Amino acid sequence: MAVHKNIRARNKLESMKAELARELRQRSGVHVEQAADPMDQILSQIDREYRLAYLQRSAERYRAINRALGRIEEGNYSICLECEEKISPKRLQAIPWAIYCVSCQERLERLREEMGEAWNLDAAA
Ligand SMILES: [Zn+2]
Repeated sequence: MAVHKNIRARNKLESMKAELARELRQRSGVHVEQAADPMDQILSQIDREYRLAYLQRSAERYRAINRALGRIEEGNYSICLECEEKISPKRLQAIPWAIYCVSCQERLERLREEMGEAWNLDAAA
């Protein structure tokens, strides 16, 4: 069965998900330190923004992993969401949460760039 075949991907995704959840819990305690020095204040603001951006990326990754797990359940894990061709096993090994084949991914990324959107599901960690 398809579910059986993807057991390794599923385990991998489950452990990535657990890892991310732990990280998100740890990092979501974001707070701004009240610093007397204005420069310290600026630095801590930058630090906070960096952490928020990081959190946002992790949250996106978490959602992508969840979606991939759902696709494993449905038995369409390795099927490209766009063209319905098979996503190469090599690609899924490298990016287990991928939902598009390489050519669709590239096309969509170009499209997003043209639209000025900054979301990229496959952004390297
Ligand atoms: Zn495709």
